Amino acid sequence: MKVIKTISELKDFVAENNNISLVPTMGALHLGHGALIKEAVKQKDENGKVIVSVFVNPIQFGPNEDFNKYPRTLNEDAKFCEELQADVVFAPSASEMYGINENQKDNFNLSNNYLTYVCPPYFLVDKLCGKSRTGHFDGVATVVLKLFNLTGAKKAYFGQKDAQQLFLIKKMVKDLNLNVDIKSIPIVRDKNGLALSSRNKYLDSDGYNKALTIHKMLEKVKELYGRGVTNVKILFEEAIVLNKDNIVDIEYFEFMDFNNLENTMAAKENTLVAIAARVDNIRLIDNLIL
Ligand code: AMP
Repeated sequence: MKVIKTISELKDFVAENNNISLVPTMGALHLGHGALIKEAVKQKDENGKVIVSVFVNPIQFGPNEDFNKYPRTLNEDAKFCEELQADVVFAPSASEMYGINENQKDNFNLSNNYLTYVCPPYFLVDKLCGKSRTGHFDGVATVVLKLFNLTGAKKAYFGQKDAQQLFLIKKMVKDLNLNVDIKSIPIVRDKNGLALSSRNKYLDSDGYNKALTIHKMLEKVKELYGRGVTNVKILFEEAIVLNKDNIVDIEYFEFMDFNNLENTMAAKENTLVAIAARVDNIRLIDNLIL
């Protein structure tokens, strides 16, 4: 397996391999990413190649977010990808991707106009994670389009864990007529139900136990829905009781139609139940699609 750090080397690889599947990540890989990579390897054609990108994308982080402390573990990530039989890890620097120095990231945000951005429709961005993370999805859509263009990927794998991201990437592909097939992979959890996340590394054991409340609330919704309860007000109220002492600090807990990201009052098939919450100031997200 190759680790490629420059665009020119990537272009050489792509010139010889025109059947690419892409798994975009920010690294600090865990079994959630592993599920995407495994699926990409499993679904690739005989002459296909799987590229895993590992890039902590500066333009999708807000000024007060964790860009600087985000875990960077490229050696381990490369080993992990090799074990899973990926063909390439593409791990460019920020300057390779944008012509900027990582430390200059704050001078290179949405208020500077040095870069052409892809901006998903505001009415789809200004909800869920986008509400508190101004510019985040512009940064995501921009880097994902760059990665699609650089790799010429025919298939790309995204986790359902980032449901709004998945929705917006599918919309971008449709709206811009991109020639890439978006595959979505269900959320991978640990044995206690916590959704795997690179940010779980920040949790101590007390934080970890608190974080499980997020999963418990989603499980409560699932259980009640399974028993025929569809009234969103009831589902919400029964689930939120599990967080009665504000064990986690909820940013949003919403029920939306996953066909259009509109809020819904009656849960049905394809309703997205999405939660973002802070535990000891660590922001975690999780969801369930009914
Ligand atoms: P990230 O490195 O956090 O940007 O994630 C890269 C990709 O892995 C995204 O498509 C995520 O949705 C996906 N992903 C992250 N955690 C999980 C998980 N626990 N289960 C499934 N997919 C995941």
